[in-house]
Parts: sequence; structure tokens; C-alpha cells
Amino acid sequence: MRIKGFQGTSLLDFPGRVSSLVFTGSCNLSCGFCHNPGLVLDPDQYPDYPLDDLLDELKQRRSFIDGVVLSGGEPTLATGLAGFLEQVKGLGLQVKLDSNGLLPQVLSSLLGRKLIDYLAIDFKTSPSRYNELHTQPVDTAALLASCRLAIENAPEYEFRTTCVPGLVTEKELHEMGRVIKGARRWVLQQFLPREQLLGDAPQEAYPVAKFAQLRQVAASYVEQVEGRGW
Ligand code: SF4
Repeated sequence: MRIKGFQGTSLLDFPGRVSSLVFTGSCNLSCGFCHNPGLVLDPDQYPDYPLDDLLDELKQRRSFIDGVVLSGGEPTLATGLAGFLEQVKGLGLQVKLDSNGLLPQVLSSLLGRKLIDYLAIDFKTSPSRYNELHTQPVDTAALLASCRLAIENAPEYEFRTTCVPGLVTEKELHEMGRVIKGARRWVLQQFLPREQLLGDAPQEAYPVAKFAQLRQVAASYVEQVEGRGW
């Protein structure tokens, strides 16, 4: 398991919990609006965070953190992920995994072994537009399988959509809503035009007033819609 980043304490990334954040490198998408382009394009530019040191730090922190968030890059690509999560769970900490959902077999195995307490699936746009997120065709059947897994098997879960202007409009939200109809929680994140992977992402975010329209669409498909960053 290769760790590329560690943040000791966060109040924001694991709903209802204080958590530490762990970042892995590499990704199987190359979204133009990615905020961690270094981790996606050239993860080896960052030194590996020593695993034993990380586990020691988590051990010391477990009196005031509730869990660990695995993010990236795409954590399900990491070799040794299950073994690492077993060690985290062995410390009595909960696990939240952030994933783009393209490796449902990995998610299924981790869920089956009860190594994920909270699964966040980044659902980026309508499945028909996923090929715009990579240089090669994207397996959207895998994404749909992960969406079902989250709804049916995850102890807690959320779908997260960053509202990138042009990529996520009411039309896309309707198509996405049909995929996750009946889900518990859908988070609509405000897009932040900052560091980008391709430099061709929009330069401006949607105005705040737009959130009400987007929320209305999302709310017609799921139990709860939350806005983040608006
Ligand atoms: S936004 Fe997420 S899925 Fe897209 S390239 Fe970046 S890390 Fe990968």
C-alpha cells in the first residue's frame, strides 16, 4: 500500500465524525476539472508516506478522531488496500472510502469484508457523458454496478456530484437521478475553479441561485439532497 498524503485532522470529510485523511496516487479517469492533478498524472513525484509511521500516528490520534477517509486519486487501485483497511479497523477506527466507482469488484470485496463504514461514490455526470472524462472509453456498466452496491450493501453512503458548469445541468441530473432513484443521500458540491488537470475546465462556477434549481431536480429522485460549498 503506497500512501501519498496524510492530513491528521478534518471535521469536514467524514459526515458526523472527526477524521484523518489518507491520499493514494493514480486514477483510472482524467477529469479535466480534477483538483489533484499531481496525484493522477505523476504520483511518483510525491514520496511515499511511511506506512508504519502513518499507523503509529493513527494510533496516537484515536482518542480524538473517529475514523479515516481514504481518498485520492482513486483508492481502489491501490495494491494492499484491504490489508491496510484491516489495520485501520483494528485500531477501532471507522473507514470512509471516496471512489469514482469504476472498480465495483473491489468495492464489493471490501464491503463483504466489512472494511467500509461509509462509501462516497463520485457520480460525475450522466453515464452517457463519461467518455468526456478520460482518454479511453469508460466502463459505465461498472459505475452503475457500484451505484447499486452502495445503495444495497454499504452501511452508510452518499453520491457526490461536483456541479461543473456544462457537464452537470438539469438534463444530466435527471439521467443520473434515474440511476440512483430511491437513494438516501445525494450531495451537490459547488465547483471551485482552481488547479485543473487539463486546463480546459470552466473558469467560473455556477451562481449560488442555480443551486436551488439543481437541488429541485436531484430532490425528485432521492431522500435527501445536501449542498456543499454553495
Ligand atoms: S477528479 Fe477524481 S476521478 Fe477524476 S481524475 Fe481526479 S481523482 Fe480521478
